[in-house]
Amino acid sequence: MLESLLIANRGEIARRIIRTARRLGVRTVAVYSDADAQMPFVREADLAERIGPAPARESYLDGAKILAAAAKTKARAIHPGYGFLSENADFAEAVERAGLIWVGAPPGAIRAMGLKDAAKKLMQDAGVPVTPGYLGDDQSPERLKSEADRIGYPVLIKAVAGGGGKGMRRVEAAGSFGEALASCRREAAASFGDDRVLIEKYIANPRHIEVQVFGDHHGNIVHLFERDCSMQRRYQKVIEEAPAPGMDDTTRAALTGAAVKAARAVGYVGAGTIEFIADASDGLRADRIWFMEMNTRLQVEHPVTEAITGQDLVEWQLRAASGEKLPKAQDQLFIDGWAMEARLYAENPSAGFLPSTGRIAHLNLPANIRVDSAVEQGDLVSPYYDPMIAKLIVHAATRPAAAEKLANACRTVEVWPVKTNAGFLARAAADPNFVRGGVDTGFIERHAARVIPASEPGRDAIAAAAAALLPKNGDGPWQALAGFRLAGAPDPRVAVEIGGEVHIAEPVAAGAVREIAGDRVLFLDGGAWPFSTPQPKAAGETGTDDGAILAPMPGTVILVEAVKGKAAKRGQRLLVLEAMKMEYILVAPFDGTVVDLTVKTGSQVEEGALLARIER
Ligand code: ADP
Repeated sequence: MLESLLIANRGEIARRIIRTARRLGVRTVAVYSDADAQMPFVREADLAERIGPAPARESYLDGAKILAAAAKTKARAIHPGYGFLSENADFAEAVERAGLIWVGAPPGAIRAMGLKDAAKKLMQDAGVPVTPGYLGDDQSPERLKSEADRIGYPVLIKAVAGGGGKGMRRVEAAGSFGEALASCRREAAASFGDDRVLIEKYIANPRHIEVQVFGDHHGNIVHLFERDCSMQRRYQKVIEEAPAPGMDDTTRAALTGAAVKAARAVGYVGAGTIEFIADASDGLRADRIWFMEMNTRLQVEHPVTEAITGQDLVEWQLRAASGEKLPKAQDQLFIDGWAMEARLYAENPSAGFLPSTGRIAHLNLPANIRVDSAVEQGDLVSPYYDPMIAKLIVHAATRPAAAEKLANACRTVEVWPVKTNAGFLARAAADPNFVRGGVDTGFIERHAARVIPASEPGRDAIAAAAAALLPKNGDGPWQALAGFRLAGAPDPRVAVEIGGEVHIAEPVAAGAVREIAGDRVLFLDGGAWPFSTPQPKAAGETGTDDGAILAPMPGTVILVEAVKGKAAKRGQRLLVLEAMKMEYILVAPFDGTVVDLTVKTGSQVEEGALLARIER
């Protein structure tokens, strides 16, 4: 086994690698940028080296700085994690030239698989089925157009150097091909410095299915079954699972066989993933699954494979890198149950999934499941990197049980004040179509209205916040403006201010209520809602400084006790307003004289209308 390991990465994957390394007795070195100096992975490593300022280009992507850190800390090996330099063949070579062990894919395999067109040609030659399309060198718009016509629309234009869902354009018909090509090329040139493209048949109802492969330095290659990552938004994975729903033994044998063949074709060592696209319009069929690309690294979603196989893939990586044989042979690997992973992001689904950065004042992640998190309570979600907070991983005997466990886990997430996609994940995991047996990659787009939570609180959240405001024994009625009536039976409803509006609701206790830095926040179904007792400017005991008595909401004045020119004592009842069938007592904010009175019994008033004024 290796004696020491530098992790050229950050966040959850750095912590994940440290965990296994520690268990195996490997000394760990973290490298960090200025933005990450206080992050958990820096504290958790045995040693930590600063490598530069926040921008990744000047830190995590600067190979020379990472090698210098390795030399200084006498690290013997480098684990690149995923992203950053993990699929950079030049860096891999530099690591090996420096006499260090590279816990990543062989540089030759990274190069062979780096460009989508070359990778597909290689696979074609190895007898692996590839998506029908055009991979040629002739990149003239005329040729590309005629190839698209030949393949038949819809087609997908893909940047050969693309990745991360960038540089792809779907073209519905010949008429829009030219424009889509030009825009795809611009994006490819800007993002990857290479504007070459390939054309693929656009697969209807496509499912993304990938196979985990592993190789060692002794020529052994095994697969660890498949994952299904079809739950995507804009070509980005949202929920991953293993195995793939609807996969039968024959199809699995064909798929994993093709994957092992692909890995063998590039002399693969370490952890790799072969991605396939399946036309699932008619269920999964071996003759409708095609090679898409190979990822020459450990994937974000590797934990679902760990869950169903009981293996630690980081341990496999460290063993393979140190020259050991793979821990298991193919016939010693089995699928046990069903696993799912959801990616918890600091982003706001109801605002177009905009990243939501900042300090996490409150963090409560589900217990009793595997959580690979990047941050702890009090840590920053920085704008410099991927805003992932954690991965939530569940394992159960069956797929429905796993989906239910995942939905429940997402529902109990508490994060504040940073916004998260937990509510969205909970809805997606609980969606009947998903639960029934898998989805295709267009699911979220088609059902956005159903799976993306609204920006306003729903009835349940309002009712739960109202319940939290119910007066406790000893509180007067004004504390909660609840259940107070001038006559008759008490009204069970409660006024609550939530989502910037005042609501009157029947209280129903649900979710969790926390007091965070002076705010009361309701956590319900993955959502977070600050709420309070409505504080209309002159209602209750807290009046305005200038003595203005304003209508807290539109309503009818049902009682006037104030008399213009007369004195009023602090807390003395001046007016009663009925609004939404609740009565609001408006009292004097301080001792003074009523100098203005603009309403009488029966007056209809707008929200914010001046009703009366007290002067000291
Ligand atoms: P990237 O390298 O940017 O991740 P991929 O080639 O892996 O790009 O494709 C990303 C996603 O795009 C896939 O998971 C799938 O949802 C979709 N996709 C790719 N190729 C096709 C295709 N031929 N037809 C339909 N969808 C596709």
